[in-house]
Amino acid sequence: MPRLFIVQKKVYLSTAMNRPVVVWIRNDLRHHDNPAIFEAVSRGQPVILLYIFDTDLNAPSSPGGAARVWLEQALECFGTQAMRRGFGWVIREGAPVDVLRAVLRETGGTHLFWNRRYEPDGVIKDDEIKEIFELEGTPVNTFRGNLLMEPWQLFNKKGDPFQVFTPYWQAFQEARPDTCEAPEAFPAMPYTKALSSLSPQELPLCPKHLNWPKKVTTVWKVGESRALEALERFCLEGLSHYGMKRDFPAAEVTSKLSPYLHFGEISIRRVWNMVLDQTRKNSDSLSIAQADAFLRQLGWREFAHAVMYHFPRIVTSPFREEFQTVAWRKNANELKAWQSGNTGIPIVDAGMRQLWQMGWMHNRVRLITASFLVKHLLYSWREGMSWFWDTLVDADLANNTFGWQWITGCGVDPAPFFRIFNPVVQGQRFDPEGAYVRQYVPELCLVPHEFIHRPWEASVEDLRSWNVYLGTNYPKPIVDLNEGRERALKAFSRK
Ligand SMILES: Cc1cc2nc3c(=O)[nH]c(=O)nc-3n(C[C@H](O)[C@H](O)[C@H](O)COP(=O)(O)OP(=O)(O)OC[C@H]3O[C@@H](n4cnc5c(N)ncnc54)[C@H](O)[C@@H]3O)c2cc1C
Repeated sequence: MPRLFIVQKKVYLSTAMNRPVVVWIRNDLRHHDNPAIFEAVSRGQPVILLYIFDTDLNAPSSPGGAARVWLEQALECFGTQAMRRGFGWVIREGAPVDVLRAVLRETGGTHLFWNRRYEPDGVIKDDEIKEIFELEGTPVNTFRGNLLMEPWQLFNKKGDPFQVFTPYWQAFQEARPDTCEAPEAFPAMPYTKALSSLSPQELPLCPKHLNWPKKVTTVWKVGESRALEALERFCLEGLSHYGMKRDFPAAEVTSKLSPYLHFGEISIRRVWNMVLDQTRKNSDSLSIAQADAFLRQLGWREFAHAVMYHFPRIVTSPFREEFQTVAWRKNANELKAWQSGNTGIPIVDAGMRQLWQMGWMHNRVRLITASFLVKHLLYSWREGMSWFWDTLVDADLANNTFGWQWITGCGVDPAPFFRIFNPVVQGQRFDPEGAYVRQYVPELCLVPHEFIHRPWEASVEDLRSWNVYLGTNYPKPIVDLNEGRERALKAFSRK
């Protein structure tokens, strides 16, 4: 388990030692296992933690609406803890290079530290900023970030980046990632000088006039301590049947750690270590299989990030370039029906409504809703990706891009384009009792499970007895599933 680390240096502090180290905080909003903070504290100087809201809103990694709502609260929680621990805590808005220069100048900061990020626009900026400050005489130190293995650590036998998950995962396990956690650290010298700072509420994050953010934030508990609690709960309650039930949305066994992982409120190494610790306690073959299934998902996350790092073009164009020529459809009404969960296909509508209500959707249903959009409706994966980007609290450039390109068939190691999920069959298989559909589509709550995933096949009399009037209180399907499938096969094979 991590040690508490308090730096005590009984040395005579020179003026330079009174000057702070500035740690640029990004999506690493935690005090446990935060290598940049630990290393800064270890220098024995005061430490300023600085968050910059980057005003380059067109950057692909600039957070979407739901993620901003999360971010506002995450900054509040992180900042409270930072000040309690004696760190200087500053939030500013602007172009990072200008803000960093200003803060270093105002504080006489001697060093600039940060944990690395992997989004292409972030990587480019970080390289430029590192060069600028080093030329100006401020040493810049960067540390491993939110991945178990840095993307440049793992290549296939030919020396190329992996493009297929199974050999990647095998190599990953053989390479044994360094999961040693940085000890939690408190600065020996608190930073006491007043510095101008914005509050999280002053940033353009949570729209005050909308009701939606309030609803979402009642569902989730944001912050590092909540993230650690969620992990503990998952290890005690979800992990033991994760592998068997992870595809069943009504079972709710998955960890729901994705937003915490995205914002770095929990360390990926802590997740990995705690799952392994739990497995050591219950080391029967069934428990090991459940833990393996979970660690494999973390593997997909690592893979998605490595792919984005090595092929940065995928955030705007398909990995398989031939998909550029697919004749995607456009119809504002259909897109709206999909976004609002009114397609008339119950499992799709349940998923899209879950997304709207809680800013999150179960993985199996993400696959079903995404497949329905790109295949049955023949809309570009970009449309779906951008809706998810704006509505998911866990919106993550690597995972979102990877998921959409995978389901479309245009990504790395993708599902073949002719594999078209039938949403009725998927619903019957993964929500056999219809519990998930009934939770999010209450109009269908009286429909028995034989028809819950295909109400249009029931007789009008039966529907009336279940209080369902198709086209009135629940939509008729906006597309005939067979016709949609044929249309997609034709369009995709022409590419
Ligand atoms: C179209 C589509 C879009 C997606 N967009 C995102 C996104 O923006 N952000 C995001 O975090 N995940 C995304 N995913 C992956 C996955 O759906 C979520 O990570 C998962 O549902 C989060 O729930 P959980 O934390 O309970 O997952 P668990 O099943 O408990 O998994 C644990 C962790 O592993 C990682 N993980 C799990 N599945 C995947 C996966 N398929 N790919 C990559 N990482 C995975 C996540 O970090 C997750 O928190 C997307 C999947 C699809 C099909």
